Formats: sequence, C-alpha cells, structure tokens
Amino acid sequence: MSVTRERSGALDVARIRADFPVLERTVGDKPLIYLDSAATSQKPRQVIQAEADFYAHHNANAHRGIYLLAEEATAMYEEARAKLARFIGSPDPATIVFTRGTTESTNLVAYAWARRELREGDEILLTEMEHHSNIVPWQLAARDTGAVLRYIPLTDDGLLDLSELETLLTERTRLLAVTGMSNSLGTLPPIKELVEAAHAVGALALVDGAQLVPHVPVDVTELDCDFLTISGHKMLGPTASGGLYAKRELLERMDPFLGGGHMIEEVFHDRSTWNEVPFKFEAGTMNIAQEIGLGAAIDYLEALGMDNVRAHEVHITEHALRRLQEVGARIFGPLDAEVRGGAISFWYKDVHPHDLATILNEEGIAIRAGHHCSQLVMRRYGVPATARASFYVYNTDDEVDALVEALAKAGDVFGS
Ligand code: PMP
Repeated sequence: MSVTRERSGALDVARIRADFPVLERTVGDKPLIYLDSAATSQKPRQVIQAEADFYAHHNANAHRGIYLLAEEATAMYEEARAKLARFIGSPDPATIVFTRGTTESTNLVAYAWARRELREGDEILLTEMEHHSNIVPWQLAARDTGAVLRYIPLTDDGLLDLSELETLLTERTRLLAVTGMSNSLGTLPPIKELVEAAHAVGALALVDGAQLVPHVPVDVTELDCDFLTISGHKMLGPTASGGLYAKRELLERMDPFLGGGHMIEEVFHDRSTWNEVPFKFEAGTMNIAQEIGLGAAIDYLEALGMDNVRAHEVHITEHALRRLQEVGARIFGPLDAEVRGGAISFWYKDVHPHDLATILNEEGIAIRAGHHCSQLVMRRYGVPATARASFYVYNTDDEVDALVEALAKAGDVFGS
C-alpha cells in the first residue's frame, strides 16, 4: 500500500503514522489497517512513553505523601487535569473529575445527581441513537426514583427527528442526555440548540462526549452544557483514562459517588464530611499513570490542532462515503460528511457483518461488526448488526480503498 497520498485534508498523515508503533505490525503477511478507532484509538509513542516515564521515574500515590516522588506524582496528575480542562474550554480545572471514561462519568451523574434530585414523574429525555452507557444508567436511576424515560426518535437518514421536541421536552424534563456524536450512525446532533432548549424548560443537559471530544473542537463554556463525559482511550490516551466535566456549582451540590480515601475532609464514627471539589468524587487510588498519559495525548492533539483533526476526518469520511456507495454498500446514518463523524455503519450486499469482519481480518483490516452497544439504533433500522469502519488521524484514503477492494472479495465469497 502506498503511503504517498497521505497529506490528506490538513494533516501530514505519513508523519503521524510514524508515531504509532502498532501501525508497523502485520496481520499474517498483510499490513495492519486499523479502522476501529470508534471502539478505541491507537496510542502514539509519546503517550506510551509518558505512562512508562511516570512508572519508571515518578511512581507514587498522588495527593498522599510529602516526599519528592509523591509531590511529583501529584503535580503531574494535576497538570493532566488542567490540560483536560483547557482542552474542552473550561477555565477551571476543578470542573474535571477524573474517571475511567464515559461509562463511569455517566454513572457518576446518575448516582450522585439523579438519585438525589429526581422524583416520581420527573422525566429524563434521551435519544434513540444513544450508546447503552447513556441509556442503562438512566433506566436504573429511573427505577430507583420513579422518573420516566423519553426518547427523541430518529429519521430514516439517521438524524434526530426534532419535529415533536416540544412535546418531549417539557417542564417535567429534569435532564436531557444526548450524544455529541453517534458511535453507530456517525451523526453530529445539534447539541448547542438542544442544550439551549433543555435550559429553556429548566432541565440540565448532559452531552456524551465519548466520540465528540476526540474528533471535534469542543468548548464547554460556549456550549454551556452542564455535564460532558470524556473517554481518554478514544483520543489517543491510555485505557481507563478520562473524566467528567461538570459545572462547578453542580459538583458542589452533588453527593459523592464512591466513598473511601481522599474524598473526605473528616471522618467520625457516624458520619463524614467531604473534601473539596473535584476530590470529593475521586475516592481511593486513582488511575494516575493513565491520566498523565492522557495529558500527553492532549499535547499531541493540540500540536496537530483540533480544527485540522476535524478537517482530516471530513476529508476521509467523504472519500469513504463516496467509495462505499459506489460499490453499493447500504450506509446507516447521514451521507453528508459535514454533519457527521467518521464512524460509518454499513451493510454490503447480504453478507452478515460478522462474516464481513472475518474476511476483512484475513486482509489485515480491522473493522467492528455487531450492534455497537446501540441496540435501539439496530431496532430502528431493522438490522441485528452492522459492519462499522471508523477513522482517526492516522488513517489514509489508501486504507479506505483497501477496505472497498476487500469488500468486493467478501461479496464474491458470501454475497447473493
Ligand atoms: N458513548 C459513546 C457514544 C461511545 O462510543 C462509547 C464507547 N464505545 C461510550 C459511550 C462508552 O465509553 P467508554 O467505553 O469509554 O466508557
């Protein structure tokens, strides 16, 4: 495969690829073509080194000891927090609670805010394109509080159907929880308008940023969302890195999520008082090395420039949408790259997505096949599963072309 066409969009992809050791490996005798970044991104040397450097030279628990290593560990951990806050446009590092990612962040809100605040008959408004991690925590919270879930439906072309929004979003709504970018359809919902609409009826707004934050410049001050969830492992960072952004006054009012060391101010026999925000939400030994690695991932993305990251994604997504349609693939989700990200779900001929993924694997191509933790989406479009190719800063047009050629092979073997 040639790597000469790799200055696509706004990124020097050939140079970027040289930073990712895993892209040097082969699958059998084929070069690896990794098209599953929506599940988890690959990691550049800089991130791997940052994590290794912490363990090799600074390892100690953060916010505990007063010896040199402990102070270094604390400073590095807090520097990562400040970087993450700045990266999403928050001027206040205390608005970032470190978590293992979006699932933990959403559950934190469901336990520490929803269970305390919601009453019988209150409503939570979701959309049918949510990942299960933005559905199930609310189902559990609704079961415990008597709150009711409502869903914004989808149009045939994979957008939110907002025609009935006024009947769905009412003064009974206490929370709107919506994805910033769908992991199965790629759709970018109009989150700014939705946050405004939620606030207009007195509801809070949570944006699931798992797919959004890695791919699109985000500014929470401008967006004015109340909560934003972040998965570090999808934005070049280590697994189990990430966080929850929340407005500071909300964090101050909220109960702790997990109880344990460091989240307290004082402990008595019968009660405790809480540490200040955000430490009130960080119980026990945290994912220190991982969050430091995430700090290095943010440095990497900032050096590329998030506008360039997005421009590259629009470029490669346009190319992929065009090529996939040329060979007759059925695409789920919008066909305009400007209103979507680079996670593309499709069916090719009548080949089951699992068969497709198996054949593509023989060509060294890694795609995802399944329901993508989005069973409501699968139900809406009447399929049990889809194949999904997803792109990031290291992917090239040539890799998309290799995918399309391999699809034709799979079609010959299995297709009707
Ligand atoms: N929401 C969306 C839109 C996602 O794509 C994912 C990950 N597939 C999640 C939530 C869950 O994120 P994590 O696994 O990092 O907790």
